[in-house]
Amino acid sequence: MHAEWPNRFARLGPEFYTELPAQGLPDPHWVAQSPACAELLGMPADWASQPSLQALQVFSGNARWPGMQPLASVYSGHQFGQWAGQLGDGRALWLGELATPQGGMELQLKGAGLTPYSRMGDGRAVLRSSIREFLCSEAMAALGIPSTRALCITGSALPVRRESMETAAVVTRVAPSFLRFGHFEHFAHHGQHAALRRLADHFIAEHAPECLDAPQPVVALLARVAGQTAKLLAQWQAVGFCHGVMNTDNMSLLGLTIDYGPFGFLDGFDPGHVCNHSDHQGRYAYARQPNVAFWNLHALAQALLPLLPANPEATREAEREAAGEQLLEALEPYRERFPRALLGAMRAKLGLATAQEGDRELVDDWLRLLAATRVDYTIAHRRLSRYGAQPEALRDLFLDRPAFDAWALRYQARLAQEGSVAAEREAGMLARNPAVVLRNHLAEGAIRQAQAGDFSEVQRLLKVLSRPFDEPEQASDAGFPPDWAQHLEVSCSS
Ligand code: AMP
Ligand code: MG
Ligand code: MG
Repeated sequence: MHAEWPNRFARLGPEFYTELPAQGLPDPHWVAQSPACAELLGMPADWASQPSLQALQVFSGNARWPGMQPLASVYSGHQFGQWAGQLGDGRALWLGELATPQGGMELQLKGAGLTPYSRMGDGRAVLRSSIREFLCSEAMAALGIPSTRALCITGSALPVRRESMETAAVVTRVAPSFLRFGHFEHFAHHGQHAALRRLADHFIAEHAPECLDAPQPVVALLARVAGQTAKLLAQWQAVGFCHGVMNTDNMSLLGLTIDYGPFGFLDGFDPGHVCNHSDHQGRYAYARQPNVAFWNLHALAQALLPLLPANPEATREAEREAAGEQLLEALEPYRERFPRALLGAMRAKLGLATAQEGDRELVDDWLRLLAATRVDYTIAHRRLSRYGAQPEALRDLFLDRPAFDAWALRYQARLAQEGSVAAEREAGMLARNPAVVLRNHLAEGAIRQAQAGDFSEVQRLLKVLSRPFDEPEQASDAGFPPDWAQHLEVSCSS
């Protein structure tokens, strides 16, 4: 591609990254491409097959388009609540950015070999986890949930050892910025305050320019990140998404869903659901995600503390305290914003057009009803959308019919109160309650076929997930998970 591939991040200086070439995939092949992501990037329709572009080689790490400058960035972070020290892009490489009508979009290869930050890892990603990241990135975008995007996957016969032997793949992911809370934590922890300042100035100038108008741009930055994180978490909870590894190094400064690992969508509604098989304490259980995000925001606040200006009148102790207060205040709105955003999203899922007293209880009791017998979260909302026309289909989901009937009476009364018209409500609700989410068993079906050399199911599923609110052609895409899906296990970093 004849682009300049500027890399604004690279201008920050050598403390921030290491330049290094990719370790490409031997004899690569295409696994999948996302037309929607390619369109977002303004790529020509035949980008993947144009011989002169050599896209297969570029996105396998074997070739570079002129101007691309691969680098791995350094960051640190808190993992499972503990300071984990230096981490960094252990298997991701920044290639540079592409100018698009939506602004600069950074491209990264994930799985293109060792970097100075690989620690014990091999710098690789396996086909299985690459398909999961690719599909879920694009599915989230289609659901309207902020996320890093995925352009394509390339694969290879290169063996990679996990629990068993698998094969290597590279995902090309795309975002306006891949900066994480952990980037700030890194420079704060090491006392590199000049670098920390450059990072804040860079992020504000390039990604949050409105903060420059605030009396304390750094405080405004934190408030902005907190606001976007609150919105993101409300969307995760409303759709039933579990991230699985909400470490501070997996938290985006733009409030994007980032680093797809052992994520999962709820099947039967269980607030305590833990999707990451290696999360033995359940730290990142579904219902805990909003609080974990708030905890992570505190880690970010702590990292920004050295950037607040010194007050010559105050003693050092008093000064730090005052600075800390300002940052804590910037986080405070999260407590109110997250529940408000979630209630708003749940009202839409229930088809409530107005906000009224008692809505919160109505929503909470609905969720309690779902939790009591682990009713399928996605299917229940889909059937609720058609409750006016087909009440029995919804009622059938509940073992405790009297409990359901009691709630349904309240719901109907609430709808009547705002003069809700079933047909109108149904259309609105079907546009808010997806028919298809990337359940583990759907991903697994595509993965098994791909591992046998047939990538058609990845591409088919991508197409279905890109229209999640439409009734899919294959009814099973929107159906209950099969029994075998209960035994699927996903864990970190594959
Ligand atoms: P994660 O829990 O997936 O967010 O990864 C935590 C850290 O481990 C990050 O610094 C990753 O870059 C690194 N990492 C994960 N998997 C690998 C791998 N296979 N090779 C090298 N580094 C890895
Ligand atoms: Mg990560
Ligand atoms: Mg990861």
